[in-house]
Amino acid sequence: MLALDEIVWVCQYCGVHNTVEIDFTISGKQDFVETCRICHMPNRVIIQTDEEENIFVDVRYIDE
Ligand SMILES: [Zn+2]
Repeated sequence: MLALDEIVWVCQYCGVHNTVEIDFTISGKQDFVETCRICHMPNRVIIQTDEEENIFVDVRYIDE
C-alpha cells in the first residue's frame, strides 16, 4: 500500500469534486477540514481505513 495517495471528495456546498493527498501511514480515522477549490467553503472530510485496506471517505458540513 502506498504511504501517500490522492482521494476524491465531493463538496457539500457546490457538488464539485476535489482531491486531497492523504498520508496512509497514519492508521485508523483521519478527520480534517478541506476548503473547496471552487466555492472556497470549508468541508469536514473524514477518512477511514479498515484491515482490508479499503478506504472510506465521508464529507460533511462543517457545523454537523
Ligand atoms: Zn464547493
